[in-house]
Amino acid sequence: MRLASVVAGGVPHAARVEGDSFILLPYADLRELLAHEDWRERAAAAGEPATGEVRLRPVVPNPPKIICMGRNYAAHVAEGGHELPEAPVLFAKHTASLTGPYDDIPMPAVSEMLDWEVEMAVVIGRAGRAIAKEHALEHVAGYTVSNDLSVRDWQNRTKQWHAGKAWDGLTPLGPWMVTDDELAPGGAGLEVSCEVDGVVMQKGNTDQFIFDVATILADISVFTRLEPGDVILTGTPSGVGNARNPKVFLAPGQTVVTRVEGIGELRNVIVG
Ligand code: ZN
Repeated sequence: MRLASVVAGGVPHAARVEGDSFILLPYADLRELLAHEDWRERAAAAGEPATGEVRLRPVVPNPPKIICMGRNYAAHVAEGGHELPEAPVLFAKHTASLTGPYDDIPMPAVSEMLDWEVEMAVVIGRAGRAIAKEHALEHVAGYTVSNDLSVRDWQNRTKQWHAGKAWDGLTPLGPWMVTDDELAPGGAGLEVSCEVDGVVMQKGNTDQFIFDVATILADISVFTRLEPGDVILTGTPSGVGNARNPKVFLAPGQTVVTRVEGIGELRNVIVG
């Protein structure tokens, strides 16, 4: 199943995507649906297709937590000139960091170093703390696409990346979640790619993770309880603009497309 959070006729809904139709479900968004233990049955229930204009919101508009992986592809670690990490490199974003899958991205007025990072993201479906790695994937609801757009000068002012990573409205998420039963365990073996104005900038595969999804979830759950609707970004492959010679950054008017095989793509225009 493909599940989304939409606004249809001015009303927010969770929705099941069937072809070009959005079947409206009686929940305000995907987080509200996932709060029910039997969410899979509820998501499959009959419903009316939306008529008229449908706007896609971030697939989970209001996650309890957004936790992100840095340096999770060896080629990306190498292009940044770093050592391979011995433990998952984690940072957080805020609900306000998120934006819709096709929304415009406002260029930060204080920066000329806006960079792309395609990432597969995990949506949590079942709560848990101190989860054993062999049971970690039982807590996954599904997988989606994100662009961890990064304000490099603000990210690298200090050793703490927070400001450059948790910028309001710079993390498109969606367009929908594909439930885990339709993909390989852990979302393994999926090509992830990023194009800017049609030019391929990043191409990788989730098989190249340094820390796989089960390892990441088990690690995070040591220090915080995973909740339904939590979103975990899994890191970006090589090809970011900041690691190029010369460096390349996004500018107003450009279109950035981030794609994960078997899930879908985000398409966002940078605006001045
Ligand atoms: Zn990232």
